[in-house]
Amino acid sequence: MGKNIIISKSKYLAGLQCLKYFWFLINAKEEVPQPDFVNRFIFNQGTLVGEYAKNLYPDGIDLGKIGDLKEQLARTLELLSGRRPLFEASISSGNVYSRADILVPVDTDSWDIVEVKSSTQLKEEYIPDVAFQKYCFEKAGINIRKCYLTYINNQYVKEGNIDPSRLFKKADITAQVDEKLEEIGNRVREMQEIAAAESPPEIIIGKQCSNPYICPLKDRCWKFLPDNNIFNLYGNKDKAIELYSEGILSIKDIPDRYDLNLKQQIQLECARTEKTKIDKDEISKFIKKLEYPLYFFDFETFSTAIPLYDGLKPYQRIPFQYSIHVLDSIDGKAEHRDFLAGGPEDPRERLLSDLKKHLGDKGSVVVYYELFEKSVLRELAEAFPEYREWADSIINRIIDLYKPFGNFHYYNSSQKGSASVKSVLPAITDLSYEGMEIGNGLAASTYFLYICGRYDTRGNCPAEEETERIRELLIKYCRLDTGGMIHILRGLIKETEK
Ligand code: SF4
Repeated sequence: MGKNIIISKSKYLAGLQCLKYFWFLINAKEEVPQPDFVNRFIFNQGTLVGEYAKNLYPDGIDLGKIGDLKEQLARTLELLSGRRPLFEASISSGNVYSRADILVPVDTDSWDIVEVKSSTQLKEEYIPDVAFQKYCFEKAGINIRKCYLTYINNQYVKEGNIDPSRLFKKADITAQVDEKLEEIGNRVREMQEIAAAESPPEIIIGKQCSNPYICPLKDRCWKFLPDNNIFNLYGNKDKAIELYSEGILSIKDIPDRYDLNLKQQIQLECARTEKTKIDKDEISKFIKKLEYPLYFFDFETFSTAIPLYDGLKPYQRIPFQYSIHVLDSIDGKAEHRDFLAGGPEDPRERLLSDLKKHLGDKGSVVVYYELFEKSVLRELAEAFPEYREWADSIINRIIDLYKPFGNFHYYNSSQKGSASVKSVLPAITDLSYEGMEIGNGLAASTYFLYICGRYDTRGNCPAEEETERIRELLIKYCRLDTGGMIHILRGLIKETEK
């Protein structure tokens, strides 16, 4: 003991999730991986939403933009007597420190805490966050009357400039916050002890590693698990946790007495026999549904908390890219067609007009996970009713290549319980997304927003050369999605012919 560690809100919340993670943040921060480019975008979205929420209080004073932490703490204390709303007011008392997004003066000597979140719903994990703020302010002798959560109204539709009074919803969370207040003192004391320890506490891996957030130390803590381990079991992780508590790590070691669902039984069988599950009848039925020419098709979309274009709701998906491979016969040479939006303007009308030409009027439209493509097409038809009939005809032509894998009619242990195209492609072909700088949909949308100057609140975007490089990466990624589907289908057909 002896060290008096100041516990900030972010460290306190990390400590609630896992004391080991907390210990690393205090004692070996350099060993905690930093958020990557994609995760930083999620953080940037939160900052942008926070900026819009400030407009709800036009006479507010922004303390976040003043000097260093010491100055901010001093300025907060000074400004409290001015009785104006304060943005990012900081407070420290004893061994705790916190900031409040918005502090609103009420009555003659009290304040309301307003926490701003970029989410469209009130989540459980917000309560301890706000409770810690209230604890810190009250510990410093500042009266807190109520606590509110200001979050995104998902029914808001942008028309002209963003209207913060309609963009946000506000919920009184005082009662839930007060319930969490009592435990904070003990938690902080416990965290002080953990922080002062020479080594991290022994914590068994479990649900806390991904709840409420994916722990940055997950790779490190989970690396001892064997390749085909129980956490790869399809479905929720309760069964895996139960098995783990019994010392069972590999799927192949799961005793027969365990009640596994059908998909998990297939996983067990594949692990024990080291064979691939292939249900030839079901796969043949699937293949028979295909009508040539085949259009292998994939959309990429982005969504932003603050709608970018008129008529949009928060987080509404905007398709900005697609790739199509057309195949006249299964062994034929595929023809490639694609679209990638040119800049930050609404790409949908141009995309629709190109897509209509590119998808032809007959033959199956093969997608991977139809719910996504179908719902994007429906949203497009809603926004551009002149395309409704055409969109319906495309939806009727859709065949979902995910189904044989989602239903485990084909399963190989290397898929690790997943039927995503990223897991299936390397399982059934010698292709993979491994090592690609843009190798998943989230990265694609983030990089696209980056080249459009929508990545951060400052509107930064890369130089022309880098923009070109990113555009090529985007095209390569989306092309692999549809080109990969051809290889997956060929692989399935080959399996049925064996
Ligand atoms: S991965 Fe899990 S056990 Fe390890 S520090 Fe994170 S939450 Fe704790």
